[in-house]
Parts: sequence; structure tokens; C-alpha cells
Amino acid sequence: AHEGLLEWRERPSVSADGVPLELAANIGHPGDADAVLASGADGVGLYRTEFLFMGEAQLPDEAQQMAAYRAVLDALAPRPVVIRTLDVGGDKALPALNLPAEENPFLGYRAIRLCLGEPELFRTQLRALLRAGAERHLRVMFPMIATLGELRAARALLREEQAHLRAEGVPPPSALEVGMMVEVPAAAVMAHQFAPEVDFFSVGTNDLTGYVMAADRGNPRVAALHQPLHPAVLTLIRTVTRAAEAHGKWVGVCGELAGEPLALPVLAGLGVTELSMSAPRVLTARAHLARLNVRDARAWAESLLVLDSAEAVEAAVRARHPELA
Ligand code: PEP
Ligand code: MG
Repeated sequence: AHEGLLEWRERPSVSADGVPLELAANIGHPGDADAVLASGADGVGLYRTEFLFMGEAQLPDEAQQMAAYRAVLDALAPRPVVIRTLDVGGDKALPALNLPAEENPFLGYRAIRLCLGEPELFRTQLRALLRAGAERHLRVMFPMIATLGELRAARALLREEQAHLRAEGVPPPSALEVGMMVEVPAAAVMAHQFAPEVDFFSVGTNDLTGYVMAADRGNPRVAALHQPLHPAVLTLIRTVTRAAEAHGKWVGVCGELAGEPLALPVLAGLGVTELSMSAPRVLTARAHLARLNVRDARAWAESLLVLDSAEAVEAAVRARHPELA
């Protein structure tokens, strides 16, 4: 089976009816870039920068961060790379900041909230990103955006750091796309208001499902309720793709769901055009995509939204796509 898959390494990621999809990989460390290249992925759809910060007694400085981001961009060029700004808090501790414990860390001071609350920490990362992206194609993504105010505040800091670097004579990125994760239900519901102000969305189905179903997949007593294919979650994804389409923006998915074969016709059918997954899953996805008719999937996926359970959605996908098992 592996031999059969390798032939897909050099093929384009395109559906049977000629619709291109970007099949990208998730990474956590610059050293993962080699595995991404070996996997044949079209790029990186989620570089989780928090691993540079976690488990360290001291925060990485601007030069250390710049070196890490530059290494990833250059290893993967000309493929696109989405670098996500610091997403700590919740289950990801940041010992260097010595933050007080919270009663509800998943509803607490995490990700963009923490970055906007610690602007020097955030500005340092933004400068490192912009320096690393000099004369390169850079996609920056903000995690856990809940309100338009947060998005605007994050973009304002980015603009200010762009101006500082310009004044210093640092060349700007050759292309800069600024996007946000959709993992807070409020952002999904209000996607039409965010769409004019971002270049792309990436749906974080891990957290989005957790917040929509109010279930922690790490807690065995409720993990069964963490259902990313629940029609409630799919309806929110559809809300995001509709809003994006109306403004000519693109939507990716970078949660675990993106790498599930069963989810491919569903997500492509809902209008998602980029899937970012663990690298070893990319070639399987490319092989399945080559057999999928995306135009047909688009009409069919609407019918999933009126089903009454995740089990019903899975049964409908299996019935239509026995090859995905
Ligand atoms: C997600 O929430 O789906 C996601 C991709 O972010 P993380 O898993 O890093 O929280
Ligand atoms: Mg998340």
C-alpha cells in the first residue's frame, strides 16, 4: 500500500473534476520541515510556534524566533507556510511567564488573549515573523480570535511592527497574507463580519468542536461527545465558507478532522480549499481527492447539514464513499 501511495508524491492535489485543493501539513518544530518535504505536502497549513516557548525557562528572543521561522520558510519555499502566532494557555503551559492557575483554562487567558495582554511578548514575535518573511511569501495566522476587536488589535500591532521594520530598512515580505483561526463559535457565527478583514480563515476543528459540543476530548467520560462531524459543527464550517466566498477569501481546516479520509468529501463539499494535517496523511488524502468529484460533493454536502447526528453524517458519507471506509 505504501509503494502505491508513493507514486502520489509528485502529483498535483486535484480532484477528479479538476478542482485544486491545497493539501498541507501541520508542524511544531523547524526540524519537521524535512518530513513535510518527504511527505509530498503542498506546504504547511499550521506551524504551531508555541513549542519554541513551552518547556523553556526563558522566552526565545527575537533572533532565536527569527531563525526558527526563517528555517521553515526557506526549507519549504516556494510552498506556502502558515505560521500561527503563540497559542499557549488552556492545556499548553508557558512556565517562563509564571501565570496564575485558572479554574477554567480552556475559557481563560490563552492564545490571542494572552498575546494582546502581553504586547511586548507579542510584538517581539511579530517582528521576528516579519524579519523571517523578508522577500518571502508569509502567511501569519492569529489563534482563538473571538471578537472583531481582537482581530483589529492584533492587525494594528502587526502594522506597527511593519512600520518599524520599514523604517529600519528591513525588506517586507514579497507577499503577506494575514488570517485567523476559527475555533471560537462566536467567530464562526460572525464570519461575515471577519471576512472583509482577513485574507483567509483556518478552522481549528479540535477546539471548535470542543466549544460547540462543550466536551473535552481528553476527558474519557465525555470524549464521545467531541464530534467534529456533528451537523452543528458542519453548519458553522459552512457559515465560514459562505462568508469567505462572498469576499473572495479562502478557508482551510487545520484540526485533526482535516486528515480524516471520511471528512474529505464533507469538507471539500462545504467549500474548504485547504486541508492541513499530519504529514503522513497527505498522500492518502491526495489519492482520495483524485477520485472525488468536488462539484457533486458541493451539492451533496448541503444535505448533511439537516441530518440529526454525527452518526447519521458518518453513515451518509460511508454510503456515498465506500472506498473511504
Ligand atoms: C484546533 O484547535 O483545531 C487547532 C488546530 O489548534 P490546536 O490543536 O493547536 O489547539
Ligand atoms: Mg486550537
